[in-house]
Amino acid sequence: MLYHTPDPERAVAVAARLCYAPVGAATLMEGMSDEAVRKVLRTIMTSGHFSALEHASYTFAVDGVSRAMTHQLVRHRLASYNQQSQRYVAYEDEPCFIVPPSVQDDPVVRSRFDAAASEAFAAYRELVESGIPAEDARYLLPNAMETKIVITMNVRELLHFFEVRCCKRAQWEICDLALAMLALAEPTAPYLFMDAGASCRRGPCPEGKMICGEPYERAPRRE
Ligand SMILES: Cc1cc2nc3c(=O)[nH]c(=O)nc-3n(C[C@H](O)[C@H](O)[C@H](O)COP(=O)(O)OP(=O)(O)OC[C@H]3O[C@@H](n4cnc5c(N)ncnc54)[C@H](O)[C@@H]3O)c2cc1C
Repeated sequence: MLYHTPDPERAVAVAARLCYAPVGAATLMEGMSDEAVRKVLRTIMTSGHFSALEHASYTFAVDGVSRAMTHQLVRHRLASYNQQSQRYVAYEDEPCFIVPPSVQDDPVVRSRFDAAASEAFAAYRELVESGIPAEDARYLLPNAMETKIVITMNVRELLHFFEVRCCKRAQWEICDLALAMLALAEPTAPYLFMDAGASCRRGPCPEGKMICGEPYERAPRRE
């Protein structure tokens, strides 16, 4: 995590309380007791007054993830992103490729995976060296290619992201990311993130016949 709104729970509670207060938000920011903040947060979370959650946001720097994962991540439209560009960054040395656990576990498959990724990268280099712009040569780069991305989400969007991506039905790499982000966010605002995570943390699974049937808790595979 790079940073987040200072005192995120107070920021959210003040915005929500303002709707019913005769004084301004600056006065509430200073004057609300911690107990009053927690009471307002309980009301927000149970009443569905979720717009107040948009006043606190979190920014994460994510490195060492695949393009396959970030392609899924950026489908979350209510977040802000900046990602290392394959147009403006021309890779000279063979980059890191993210290897899925299913591939890591089988030495034969792993060696085929490594060879194919290296071949694709070698072809990319040949094109760049023959004068093809990086933005065109990159068409050869695999989905496994490592990338870096900065993500900013407000708490409302984060809770939605955690709901769908901490679920075991989500693809392993984005699930690992969501679990790692939740582990970082939770201690900063325990009331806001108290029930955060896949929907089965709060009630019955909505996945119907796709249900995994496993208990909710799962540790992230990687840091
Ligand atoms: C297990 C899983 C499997 C998936 N499989 C596929 C797949 O096979 N193919 C595929 O294309 N995608 C797939 N997706 C991606 C999925 O369809 C969504 O694009 C992605 O999860 C982003 O979700 P979202 O639109 O709810 O979230 P966000 O874009 O983060 O939006 C948050 C919420 O804001 C509201 N919202 C946002 N934009 C609008 C809008 N324009 N109009 C109205 N309301 C809006 C909605 O309530 C939305 O839930 C999969 C996702 C998961 C978790």
